[in-house]
Amino acid sequence: MKTVAVLGGGPAGATAAERLARAGLRTIILDEKLAWEKPCGGGITYKAYSQYPYLIDNETPKKLVTDTLLAAPRSGAYKMSLSRPLVIYSRMDLNGMLLRRAELAGAEIEKTRVMGLDRTGSGWTIRTRSGRIEADACVIATGARNPLRDVGTQYTAQDTMYALGYWVPLEQPHIDIQFLPNLEGYIWVFPRAGHLSVGICGKSESAQCLRARLERYTQRRQILWAHASRPGVPWLAQ
Ligand SMILES: Cc1cc2nc3c(=O)[nH]c(=O)nc-3n(C[C@H](O)[C@H](O)[C@H](O)COP(=O)(O)OP(=O)(O)OC[C@H]3O[C@@H](n4cnc5c(N)ncnc54)[C@H](O)[C@@H]3O)c2cc1C
Repeated sequence: MKTVAVLGGGPAGATAAERLARAGLRTIILDEKLAWEKPCGGGITYKAYSQYPYLIDNETPKKLVTDTLLAAPRSGAYKMSLSRPLVIYSRMDLNGMLLRRAELAGAEIEKTRVMGLDRTGSGWTIRTRSGRIEADACVIATGARNPLRDVGTQYTAQDTMYALGYWVPLEQPHIDIQFLPNLEGYIWVFPRAGHLSVGICGKSESAQCLRARLERYTQRRQILWAHASRPGVPWLAQ
């Protein structure tokens, strides 16, 4: 039986692994964190969940949201209403659900960091923190922030942006997207089951500057600030 190593167990890797395992290949997912709370809105569009119904038909906690307030410094706010809701998950919950599906399909899962990979004959040797794995084929699905970014893509660190955010133990019915002066990026407030995901992403600014912008925004939105200043669950990632 052919062996496929899937490097990265985020949505792309977990989904690929589920399909490969269902097709009868020995499939091994290698991920250093497995399900984790990546800084991300966590919203799944109708286009995605209508094509992959398991993204909405499941027991995983989720929030269905139709309204978004898009706001920019000089143009004010615009309310956008969707005819089909966005389904919003905590990323830890979403990734966990997708990894469980891959495992149920027969994929093996190993929590380890991939250090590199080498061509050996017609296959691959994958070097991990815990040893070596031989595979006939590899799927590289390690996302934007990883040392394997160079394998098969032209992306560089300059193409990425910082993103950082918090869980805020509050509820609101709509999404906020706030654009900011002189920033290629935005602040997001995404309602989820039991909390808000509040964060900022941007290019060409340090994480410290972005954090200060986010704090000014949450201060302006007084109701949020009162709660956001409590110890939340901070994430920080590039
Ligand atoms: C601020 C922000 C908001 C976003 N909001 C949304 C949204 O609302 N809806 C939406 O659909 N998308 C959103 N996205 C995009 C979404 O996060 C990505 O498209 C998605 O996570 C990509 O999935 P992936 O599986 O390719 O990569 P990732 O989710 O990044 O997964 C990669 C996996 O690889 C692992 N990994 C990396 N390097 C190694 C290594 N060396 N060894 C072992 N494991 C490794 C990581 O631990 C991770 O689990 C947002 C992104 C950002 C930054």
